[in-house]
Amino acid sequence: MTINDAHCHFFSPQFFSALVRQRGRTPAQSPAEVCRELQWDDPVTPDALADRWVAELDARGVARTALIASVPGDEDSVAAAVARHPSRIVGFFMVDPSAADAPERVRHAVNDLGLAGVCLFPAMHHVPLVDEHIIRIVDAAAARPGVAVFVHCGVLSVGVRAKLGLPSPFDLRLGNPLDVSRLALAFPAVPFIIPHFGAGMLREALMAADACKNIYLDTSSSNSWIRYTPGLTLEAVFKTTLSVLGASRLLFGTDSSFFPRGWQQGVYDTQKAIVAEAGVSAADAALIFGGNFERLFPGAR
Ligand SMILES: [Zn+2]
Repeated sequence: MTINDAHCHFFSPQFFSALVRQRGRTPAQSPAEVCRELQWDDPVTPDALADRWVAELDARGVARTALIASVPGDEDSVAAAVARHPSRIVGFFMVDPSAADAPERVRHAVNDLGLAGVCLFPAMHHVPLVDEHIIRIVDAAAARPGVAVFVHCGVLSVGVRAKLGLPSPFDLRLGNPLDVSRLALAFPAVPFIIPHFGAGMLREALMAADACKNIYLDTSSSNSWIRYTPGLTLEAVFKTTLSVLGASRLLFGTDSSFFPRGWQQGVYDTQKAIVAEAGVSAADAALIFGGNFERLFPGAR
């Protein structure tokens, strides 16, 4: 079975530089110094990090992965990775919709850099999904067929921010999957991806996806949000999601990010076992773990 991972993060030198700037210490730390503090490996350069990712995918038997540039303005880093390994890496990037140049950045990223996923974090950037700033972004993405819009909903915690003592004043009210359904209705040709089954807003994610056939859910991370619902299990989450959406709109992902931890084999093993236990057919499992990703992001763009 082909494994494609729809959700991993590209922690580039730029990513660490941005966190250093937010820390505001003098003298400023280098990315290498921050990585030492975190006991993570220094990415060194985007090319070196891209090579490390592909070596990791090879070692784990993973065919392709989406890699998310995880701070606004880091499109070039992940574009370098895509250019180096176009058959293995699909480039996603975070955009801050409140930035004046955001629509232009999106146009450049999808048209010139070959990136395929625009990532919105409304709770982080404090921009409601129904805001005109968001419409402009989705408009720019929609002009390029094949580009998906990823919308983080529900609970949001960024582990590296906590580790570095950076505040995370996220407005959780703004990440509601029902708002994604409004966008998805307005842009029916654009695939929208809601990660982590809605990260605590499963019911709303299922309602949105039931109403809009262009909404996909990803399975990524340990999904520890299930603890918000008494008695809920990840197996029940998979079964309910499959009964509402079918198998063709569920994208396997791990939410892997830093090295040396690398690709999160445990997330795959757990989800593979759950899918087998739930009696999902081999054909449907193949869609979840790889086929749907391939259909959305066929080969190199
Ligand atoms: Zn993530």
